[in-house]
Amino acid sequence: MRVHNNLIDLVGDTPLLRLNKVTSGLAPTVLAKVEYFNPGGSVKDRIALRMVEDAEKTGELQPGGTIVEPTSGNTGVGLAIVAAEKGYRCVFVCPDKVGNDKLAVLRAYGAEVVVCPTTVAPDHPDSYYSVSERMAQTIPNAWKPNQYANKANPESHYRTTGPEIWEQTEGRVTHLVVGIGTGGTITGAGRYLKEVSEGRVKIIGADPEGSVYSGGSGRPYLVEGVGEDIWPETYDPSVCDEVVPVSDKDSFLMTRRLARDETLLVGGSCGLAVVAALRVAERCGPDDVIVVLLPDGGRGYLGKIFNDEWMADFGFLAEETEEPTAADVL
Ligand code: PMP
Repeated sequence: MRVHNNLIDLVGDTPLLRLNKVTSGLAPTVLAKVEYFNPGGSVKDRIALRMVEDAEKTGELQPGGTIVEPTSGNTGVGLAIVAAEKGYRCVFVCPDKVGNDKLAVLRAYGAEVVVCPTTVAPDHPDSYYSVSERMAQTIPNAWKPNQYANKANPESHYRTTGPEIWEQTEGRVTHLVVGIGTGGTITGAGRYLKEVSEGRVKIIGADPEGSVYSGGSGRPYLVEGVGEDIWPETYDPSVCDEVVPVSDKDSFLMTRRLARDETLLVGGSCGLAVVAALRVAERCGPDDVIVVLLPDGGRGYLGKIFNDEWMADFGFLAEETEEPTAADVL
């Protein structure tokens, strides 16, 4: 029988999909690595699995142990799935600005969620940093993965994402474009591709305008999951040949085009990475093969990027061509 025995066996081995429409007029091949095919719906399943399995090996995570992490996003979902499959308790500490739907996903997998006020300073005892630190120290057998400092994060991409891209393109990949959050994906996959190609593959980071990776101070931007105001240990800038800054507006308009033109319902950091990939494509030739990594799906962003009112409130819709809707015709 062609069956899988365990959901976590389905992590990784995501498909590469050719982008046909948004690339019109450009010479190179542009291929999207579609990470929403992971069982938790994002690239973060890869790091969740590796961080947990490494901690099991080192003994930091013991049978019956509890995983404690301050996250509400994709890493939380990945950890919740791996914890549920392997029988660990999971406690996530989230700021109160996180939407109820996101918390409901974590609870659905059996995780406990502790909500903390956003309005207090990071060193306040009620802040979500302080609470998660306290819980990690007081809960017996607690283990904190800390995705921003855990070597298993880039390592998971060195072992899986990078080799998959090399094999899927039969070594023809010439450029890898990845949004930078913790930097784990670009550091691990980029390092592997540089090594295996003896430096031939160019590694390009995509960064929200204002974030530190492209020279900013950490000014707020709306695209989620990428950009930082600090430099995490998981990011090795020496792997990156170039960092392309992209505005929120360009990221979100491209995210909407990906849904309409390429039938890819993906998140805002995917739009950001594709904008950067197309800028690279403009200066490449027909033999170039650009792989762009799309970290997650678009369902978590229906109330924002795919909501016209939200987009209009930020002035992001102005230049999008308005086509008559069914309501206009009636
Ligand atoms: N996009 C989204 C939606 C993410 O959740 C993340 C992870 N923070 C990234 C991009 C960036 O990946 P990395 O942390 O490996 O740099």
